[in-house]
Amino acid sequence: MHRQSHRGGIRHYIGGKFVSGISGQSFDDINPSNNSVICRVAEGLAEDIDLAVSAARRAFEAGGWRSMQAGDRSQLLLRVSELILERAEDLALAETLDTGIPLRQTRGQMQRAAENFSFFASVIPRLEGELFPSGSSFLNYTLKSPVGVAGLITPWNTPLMLETWKVAPCLAAGNTCVLKPAEWSPLTASLLAEIMRDAEIPPGVFNTVNGYGETAGAALVAHPAVRLISFTGETSTGREIIRNGASTLKRFSMELGGKSPAVVFDDADLGRALDATVFGGFSLNGERCTANSRLLVQESIYGEFTDSFAERAENIVTGDPFDENTELGPLIHPDHWKRVNSYIAAGKAEGAKIAAGGGRPGKQKAGNYMDATLMVNVRSTMKVAQEEIFGPVVVAIPFSDEREAVALANDTQYGLASYIWTASSERANRVAASIESGLCWINSHNVRDLRTPFGGAKNSGIGREGGVYSFDFYMEEKTVHMKLDGSPAPVMGAVNKGRSKK
Ligand code: NAD
Repeated sequence: MHRQSHRGGIRHYIGGKFVSGISGQSFDDINPSNNSVICRVAEGLAEDIDLAVSAARRAFEAGGWRSMQAGDRSQLLLRVSELILERAEDLALAETLDTGIPLRQTRGQMQRAAENFSFFASVIPRLEGELFPSGSSFLNYTLKSPVGVAGLITPWNTPLMLETWKVAPCLAAGNTCVLKPAEWSPLTASLLAEIMRDAEIPPGVFNTVNGYGETAGAALVAHPAVRLISFTGETSTGREIIRNGASTLKRFSMELGGKSPAVVFDDADLGRALDATVFGGFSLNGERCTANSRLLVQESIYGEFTDSFAERAENIVTGDPFDENTELGPLIHPDHWKRVNSYIAAGKAEGAKIAAGGGRPGKQKAGNYMDATLMVNVRSTMKVAQEEIFGPVVVAIPFSDEREAVALANDTQYGLASYIWTASSERANRVAASIESGLCWINSHNVRDLRTPFGGAKNSGIGREGGVYSFDFYMEEKTVHMKLDGSPAPVMGAVNKGRSKK
């Protein structure tokens, strides 16, 4: 890495300056490959959040950013995108160091982080109000305006990709923001702050405060000057955030957990289904919100398909995430490793059988390594079939027919994504309509089109982001009603009671 900005420790970025934080407290950022300390991270508390929100508020109220011509704001955000591309290798190396996600995969994420900025920069000039002509008596139209200061709270999986997914539309809309990155993966948010500074995004428009969710995150949610909270993380955290934001009546966008099914019918192209479901289960170390962590396979091919899946899982190259050949790196943190491992134990205790993996790879003595794991003999009622494991663990459940497949797919509190594999387009579209999920792919792995709405049904989220849908969240819309014909208004108090005689 030719620039090792984190060596001096990670600081907050407030009002255009890197600062250490008022308390002077800090915490360790850990390398998942061996759990050594990468650097210290300034621990933000309520007073740091207050400073950052004040900086964001001043930048919003000063008006330079929100009143800037859309084309000029777009140019500045395009510059951010270019700088991300220029520093893509540094960013990917930092992300791999921090998260354990293989370098091959973090490189792709940096391209996507840049695209998040270029995409939303291209949408701003097209953001227009709507016109509702109403005969000759009224002209009604809408005006869009930024909302104010946004609090953006992000998880540790794919940090920069998810942070830019929020920051780009938030700033494109003319808001200012305070980003609270996840405490387990703060490196790339700090590099993003350098990029913002280098792109000459005005001071105070973009701020970061590092720290724990219960302190820094909670203070951001409770702050009365913060109008919007865009959150990505666990469903239980989302509930807590909505409770904490209720008294200051925040607007929320919630991108939450998932337990997404891949439904494989016996007429599917099984080779492609195998490639896609293995990738969907184990890429990003299985720490992917849209992972197809539940494999629903038609009975007639269940044995054959799960055997092939298990063989592929066993062949996955687990190891040093910087090695170009590595497909599965270490999990983010020892606590998370313990949690994932406890699910494997819970599955076994309930009668599931480990068809592949099931623990730490033999050759890995240190670090948070976990084998790609497939569990078979799983019933939908089991804990491993109901709860989000968020690691390289896939459970396989058989189904007899389409009806049962849909019932099983919907038998969970979550509804983020679904994947359908069949040669019949009629059946594919019927099942797509019946599965309760915000996103659905037919005969495909997860391929995103940034213009489309992204978000979860049921307990996987509230609201949609992506394309113009992001601006429904990040902008206020005012309706203006203009009378055109001078016709009379309803009259009250026109009967003279004698007062005018005096
Ligand atoms: P998490 O909920 O533990 O933490 C997410 C963020 O919230 C962190 O920055 C954390 O510090 C902060 N936080 C925690 N408690 C808080 C509080 N009380 N107030 C304010 N902020 C608080 O989630 P995680 O473990 O970092 O991430 C994994 C989860 O994220 C999984 O459930 C995964 O499915 C979900 N996820 C969802 C999507 C999506 O688009 N739907 C995308 C990625 C990840």
